[in-house]
This record gives sequence, structure tokens and C-alpha cells, in this order.
Amino acid sequence: MHTTMRQFRDRATKYGLERAECTDCGRMNDPSAELCYHCGGDAFEDVTLSRRGEVKTYVVQHILPETFDTPLPIAIVETPEGGKVLGMFTEVDDPHAIEMGEQVTIELKRFDRQDGQVLYEPKFRREGGETA
Ligand SMILES: [Zn+2]
Repeated sequence: MHTTMRQFRDRATKYGLERAECTDCGRMNDPSAELCYHCGGDAFEDVTLSRRGEVKTYVVQHILPETFDTPLPIAIVETPEGGKVLGMFTEVDDPHAIEMGEQVTIELKRFDRQDGQVLYEPKFRREGGETA
């Protein structure tokens, strides 16, 4: 069944791991993209990213509103499909022990409700525990 752009955007907002794969160059785009960021193509396939990936970069945030636990690592994780996901780590004892290239599990945590829809955001969990 054909998915309209609006349905795709709604689902992407709801579930957080939906991407648009360019049928010309194969690279991942945000589901709201109308043209490929990489090659300018305009045809896409819907892709749901895997729930694991590798840390490409991260920062440790020390100053945040008091509803957050600090220091808080915030990372960009790349999935095997080549999709990049921005999110916060969850339950990390030593944020400075995170390694570049480390494999993490991507969990979707419920964070809000909008127009009757539950919204989810990605959170990263270390797979190897706290062994540094
Ligand atoms: Zn492209």
C-alpha cells in the first residue's frame, strides 16, 4: 500500500527511527526530505533503522535544566543501514568511558503526547556495561 508523505512524517515523528533512503544514491535522509540531501534525487524508500549502531561522536553535557541528570552524554549513532540517530545515553555510570565506535542498543522511550499520538525519542544503552 502506498504511504503518503504526511503518513510517513507522522509515523517518523511517532517512532523516531524512520528514514527515507534515496533510491538514486542509497543514502539516508530525514523522512521529511523532499530532495535527497546528498544527490538531489527525489525518490525514496521508507526504511526503519535497526535498534543498534555504533557511536560516531558524542559530547558530555554538564549544564542542563534540572529535570536532566548530569553529566549527560549525547551522541550520534550510526546504524548498519547508514542512518544517523541523535540521542542521549541512558544509565551511564562513567560518561567519559564511552568509546568511539562502541556498539550501543537504541531504545525508544516515550517522552510526550501530541495530537493524541504518543511520541518516542531514541536513547542509547551501552552493550558492554561499564567495563572500560
Ligand atoms: Zn541521493
